[in-house]
Amino acid sequence: MPVPKYRTSASKRDMRRSHHALKSPGLSLCSNCQEVRQPHVACAACGHYGGRQVIMPRKMSEMSLDGLDTQDLPSDDN
Ligand SMILES: [Zn+2]
Repeated sequence: MPVPKYRTSASKRDMRRSHHALKSPGLSLCSNCQEVRQPHVACAACGHYGGRQVIMPRKMSEMSLDGLDTQDLPSDDN
C-alpha cells in the first residue's frame, strides 16, 4: 500500500481545504403556498410542482380526502 513520503505541511493542507466550504442551498418560494422550497423539487408543504398537485404532503394525507380530486395522483403503495 502506497504511503506518503513526506508530511503535508499546514499550508498545503489548508490550501487543499480552501475549496471545502459548504454553499448555501438555492431556495425559492412555492407558487401555490409561498412556502420556501428547493428548486426542481415538489413543495413539501403542499405537494405542488409545475402548477399542479404531484404528491400528497404528509400533513394533508392525514386529513380527510373528501373534496380532493385524487384521480390523477400517484398512489403511495408502489
Ligand atoms: Zn407549496
